[in-house]
Amino acid sequence: MENTHVRRQFASDNYSGICPEAFAALAEANQGHTRSYGNDPWTDKAADLIRDIFETKCEVFFVFNGTSANSLSLASMCQSYNSILCHEQAHIETAECGAPEFFANGTKVLLVGGDGGKINPACIEPMVKKRTDIHYPKPRVISITQATEAGTVYSLNELTNLIETARSFGLRIQMDGARFSNAVAALGVAPKEITWKRGVDVLCFGGTKNGMAIGEAVVFFNLELAREFEYRCKQGGQLASKMRFLSSQWVGMLRDGAWLRHATHGNKMAKYFEEKLRAVPNVKISFACETNSVFAHMPEHVIAGLRTKGWQFYTHVSPGDCRLMCSWDTTEEDINQFVTDVKNLKP
Ligand SMILES: *Cc1c(COP(=O)(O)O)cnc(C)c1O
Repeated sequence: MENTHVRRQFASDNYSGICPEAFAALAEANQGHTRSYGNDPWTDKAADLIRDIFETKCEVFFVFNGTSANSLSLASMCQSYNSILCHEQAHIETAECGAPEFFANGTKVLLVGGDGGKINPACIEPMVKKRTDIHYPKPRVISITQATEAGTVYSLNELTNLIETARSFGLRIQMDGARFSNAVAALGVAPKEITWKRGVDVLCFGGTKNGMAIGEAVVFFNLELAREFEYRCKQGGQLASKMRFLSSQWVGMLRDGAWLRHATHGNKMAKYFEEKLRAVPNVKISFACETNSVFAHMPEHVIAGLRTKGWQFYTHVSPGDCRLMCSWDTTEEDINQFVTDVKNLKP
């Protein structure tokens, strides 16, 4: 019988296990007793390491997942009568079950377009000005996904342009960085260059998809917005009592650069995957392959055949495309196996 248990897949980077650096830190943290609810040395250390990599003062909170990081941070940035602009494919719109609206007590999410998963700055003004009367929620925040749901990355210039435009309409800036590490690796810049230096108020920094078991960090560059955020975390069920097992993983990821190494590896594997698939007739690549995903358009019989062979991947993220995600532990072997199966199915 095929051992699907140990086989690596391309469905999501959250199909992967825990990377050795996070695992080792968990084991180190698993000694003796320490204070709970984040009042422990691991949590202090993790927050300090985050301040180090961003080279600035910032307030840091550790939560369980990305949905809560996004929802609670957005709630802290607006009133219930406000609205949040985001790309129509944004995770907060398509994959969070209305949590941002729920945690922000009814705040409306307004969708804007743009190619390749990126918000087109020209779409902001029409949405902000669509209604300015008291009967419609007042726009207050823009949520930017970096890297995007399409695996693309906003360049420094694109970010500057987008954020300056948003700010000119009085919007605050939240960044959904579930794959922030992959974006940093792709751009080859210091993390500050695509966050606070461009005007980002709050970043949701993803740990899970980059190799941790569980955990995202909410990083407030705008310190005022962090006021009483710990209460939101607690009320939202996001204050871990054994916090050291969230925060120690961050220490493991950040202290020797594992976060960037793993993201760089995932990106490199996706590039390799893209090159292999480009060489197969009737397979088309849909978006620029800039981070750790490849979106490939393949004939229906190939998709069905791959599934029969036990491959798991999503086709709903970008309709008509197979989304193939690479992780910190994806190997060229895994990719070669997949591509061989594609070829044998005669696309
Ligand atoms: C995975 C992901 C999240 C977080 O999802 P959770 O399942 O709640 O951890 C947020 N934003 C983006 C863009 C994602 O891909």
